[in-house]
Amino acid sequence: MNFEFSEPEQRFIDRVRAFIAREAEKNYADEVMAPEREAHSQLADSPERREFCRQLAAEGLLGLSWPKEYGGQELPGIYDYFVNEELAAVGAPLIGKGIGIIGQTLIEKGTEKQKQYFLPKILAGEIEFALGYTEPGAGSDLASLQLKAQRDGDGFRLNGQKTFNTSAHFADWYWLAARTDNSGPSKYHGITLFLIPMDSKGISVSEIETMACHRTNEVFFDDVRVSAADVVGEVDKGWELMCQALDYERFTLFTYSPLRLKFDALVATLRDWKVAGQAALETDHVRRKLARLGSKLEVAKMHQRRVICAAAEGRVPTVESAMCKLYCTELGQEICDTAMDLLGPQALLSEGVDEAPLDGRWESALRATVVDTIGGGSSQVQKNIISRRHLGLPNPN
Ligand SMILES: Cc1cc2nc3c(=O)[nH]c(=O)nc-3n(C[C@H](O)[C@H](O)[C@H](O)COP(=O)(O)OP(=O)(O)OC[C@H]3O[C@@H](n4cnc5c(N)ncnc54)[C@H](O)[C@@H]3O)c2cc1C
Repeated sequence: MNFEFSEPEQRFIDRVRAFIAREAEKNYADEVMAPEREAHSQLADSPERREFCRQLAAEGLLGLSWPKEYGGQELPGIYDYFVNEELAAVGAPLIGKGIGIIGQTLIEKGTEKQKQYFLPKILAGEIEFALGYTEPGAGSDLASLQLKAQRDGDGFRLNGQKTFNTSAHFADWYWLAARTDNSGPSKYHGITLFLIPMDSKGISVSEIETMACHRTNEVFFDDVRVSAADVVGEVDKGWELMCQALDYERFTLFTYSPLRLKFDALVATLRDWKVAGQAALETDHVRRKLARLGSKLEVAKMHQRRVICAAAEGRVPTVESAMCKLYCTELGQEICDTAMDLLGPQALLSEGVDEAPLDGRWESALRATVVDTIGGGSSQVQKNIISRRHLGLPNPN
């Protein structure tokens, strides 16, 4: 069995690297490429970031797996993964929600008008989205969402609240799940997906700062009027689309490279470190811990490849994505925990303090890796998916 990439794949990776090397020469490089940046902060907005996304588009690196009729290149999904992996390796913005989540779903279920309007803008890197799923009473149990979309003439009126909606303070469009019917046979029925302009009258956004110093938002809806043309798919039948979009999210937003970068940074920090007067890298228990983490990194890489293989076979990689998200985000946390153990109290010093190893990165990375295990579905939720869909265990709920 050969786990290496084929020659055309390797040539493509070299092409992406050449593009990144050219971008790294530009005067905005420090703003758009920061390998020490944590995954969620790659979602922040800036004019430089938007320009970088346009350059990605101009280079033809967006929508590689989309059908040609929608401006794509009909390459296997693995090519989108290559781009994301190389971007993540330099801490650049990933191709993200537009290409990976919203575009894919619109191609399958959108109306012709939605495809004509959104797909070219996504491909040109010109449009930002926020995902509006979570509510104060509906996070892991997402199907309990209650933001109300009430019929009003030929459209709907939205009232209620969302929470933890990242990017809502700068996005152009909102990918929103709302309750259109509460009388159905189960809570999974009666949810509808909408695509609405973020500047619609009656929407207000306020900041939530996470422990990872990453901004996310609460969003309030006060009689927001939307039209029937803003519905994605069928009214009351949004749940299936959301599940599929969540699988794409776990796949596109959780890359392997940041784990590798963290591990390499830990080894580099320990190179100049002493434990009880002895060089850290010559100490048995340090070497044992690093060998274990190094092996786990290879397992993480294989999880990623299983997701890619499932996608390449045309399957939605539900179980594979859940395993990959669970394993990779918990490994990120384990690498930071190991840094804390091996570097001792100094690792707790934060950015800007003179004695802080790696300029306080371990302290901030530890906080950020906790957040990674929650966003996009918590670790416990991933375990539930694996136990039900992979192991066939009964659902206790
Ligand atoms: C940084 C960040 C960005 C986010 N961005 C977005 C976004 O853009 N859009 C969006 O819609 N949402 C977003 N979220 C929300 C995220 O998806 C939810 O936080 C997540 O699904 C958990 O929901 P909750 O916070 O309500 O916690 P809860 O669901 O209340 O869970 C609390 C705890 O109970 C556990 N738990 C819950 N149910 C079960 C169960 N059945 N079995 C075992 N354990 C269980 C959970 O694992 C967790 O540990 C983001 C969250 C974060 C942290």
